[in-house]
Amino acid sequence: MPDPAAEQTPLAAKSPYDLRVSLGAHVPETDVRTALATGDMGFVHSFTTGSAVDGPGVRVVVWTSGCMWRCQYCHNPDTWTMTNGIPVTVARATEELRKYRSGLQIMSGGLTISGGEPLMQHRFVMKLFTAARAMGIHTTIETNGYYGDRLTDQDLEVIDLVMLGIKTWDPERHRHLTRMDVEPTLAFARRLAAQRRKIWIRFVLVPGLTDDLDDIANIARFAGGLGNVERVEVLPFHQLGSFKWERLGLPYTLTAVQPPTPELTERVCGIFRSEGLTAY
Ligand code: SF4
Repeated sequence: MPDPAAEQTPLAAKSPYDLRVSLGAHVPETDVRTALATGDMGFVHSFTTGSAVDGPGVRVVVWTSGCMWRCQYCHNPDTWTMTNGIPVTVARATEELRKYRSGLQIMSGGLTISGGEPLMQHRFVMKLFTAARAMGIHTTIETNGYYGDRLTDQDLEVIDLVMLGIKTWDPERHRHLTRMDVEPTLAFARRLAAQRRKIWIRFVLVPGLTDDLDDIANIARFAGGLGNVERVEVLPFHQLGSFKWERLGLPYTLTAVQPPTPELTERVCGIFRSEGLTAY
């Protein structure tokens, strides 16, 4: 049954920092399960356009809903719950993407699917990537990699670039930070390396949480040894999403944390560079 709030909410948003809640809450549980099983429908926080920071060139970004991690610094906690997103058929998402096709080609850009965690809805994601490929659009996924084994080798052929978030190295610290294990992420990175598939690594630098230099050196050593890492992006922590925690009634523990200094960010980039990686 259509829901007026979901119907009236445009797919396009100015940024993923728009707070969106309960837009798919009217979808019956059985339909959610069918959507996940077939991939014919997905739950999407929003489409944004004109991004120059989510892959090569200028990107359209589809922000999917649903994430099983609970990172303490997450700036989009409204995407944790799948049914906070707008229910969107693959056909509608494809038509939305088609609007930007020629612009993306002119600007050497493409489609990035991010989240939330896109692989929560891997079938929907693969259908949308396949449609993008058919339109000649470059494809990038931004993922924490935890569900990387949901993708077949054939699926990987449809993805031009994987942007893989590595949050921290130490298993205990990783569980503390995300509530999940780090090993599946690392296993996915090794699998991509074995297949010589291009990856960019994203690392969020949070003072007091992910700034242990030995820990970072371990990530750098791992990444440097893979042989398929095209670049490392060190992303300074910021507070842009903190209002969402408050509005959602979630306990936010990083209120007092300041962004890292440019000097610390540069030092961390240097650790990655010392392993032969391009980092900034
Ligand atoms: S993996 Fe990403 S979306 Fe999920 S909780 Fe962590 S930062 Fe948020």
